[in-house]
Amino acid sequence: MRRKMAAGNWKMNGTSADLDEIDALGDAVPDPGCEIVICPPATLLHRMAARCDGGPVAVGGQTCHSAANGAHTGDVSAAMLVDAGATHVIVGHSERRQDHAETDAAVRAQTLAAWDAGLTAIVCVGETEAERDALNTLEIVGGQLAGSVPDAATGENLVIAYEPVWAIGTGRTPTLTDIGEVHDFIRTALERRFGEGVGRSVRILYGGSMKPGNAAEIGAVSNVDGGLVGGASLKAADFAEIVRALS
Ligand code: PEP
Repeated sequence: MRRKMAAGNWKMNGTSADLDEIDALGDAVPDPGCEIVICPPATLLHRMAARCDGGPVAVGGQTCHSAANGAHTGDVSAAMLVDAGATHVIVGHSERRQDHAETDAAVRAQTLAAWDAGLTAIVCVGETEAERDALNTLEIVGGQLAGSVPDAATGENLVIAYEPVWAIGTGRTPTLTDIGEVHDFIRTALERRFGEGVGRSVRILYGGSMKPGNAAEIGAVSNVDGGLVGGASLKAADFAEIVRALS
């Protein structure tokens, strides 16, 4: 049985005052029925992890460098995320792929670095609108999956997030049928590559304009094991509703 996961991606949002949202989330869902991970900006990671210590909310980074340390100004290594209290890290988010020209090979190297440090990697894949219009969604997602995920995947060290680029932050979502088609495709690809045991144990999250109003129906789609949530994870009240809907 795969436990559902609600992962929040705060992106480049949040300062000290927003740490109170973590306390509010804990008050709103003291005994959550799914796994919760919040990925704040790196500046808040350590303090957020301290607030979450001993509770049900885990903390993650939003990316990591593939190297363990060295001359990489502005970057953060996986070991540094662990040192700050993280247990997870998002890699290959489409905003990283676009803004920082991260390739599948770079995402694969980051995933390996995350695993070396003991983190669970949340690897993001997803097509652009032009790619969907050209009926290339499955080819694109399959290619990203093959190129971004290293061989030593397990149900513990890997989570996949299917995030159609055109649905992120737009208020638009694919139909439930379309979400199911891609998630089933990813499940089959994981089973073929890693065998049924591992392939069935890796969680596949949906991301892209998930809100309190659509989380339950998306969460009920075949092979959807939770959500990676951007905007709606910033306010505890909204995110708590999503947690409840996914539980
Ligand atoms: C995301 O950034 O991963 C995301 C899904 O954003 P939003 O929920 O705001 O669309």
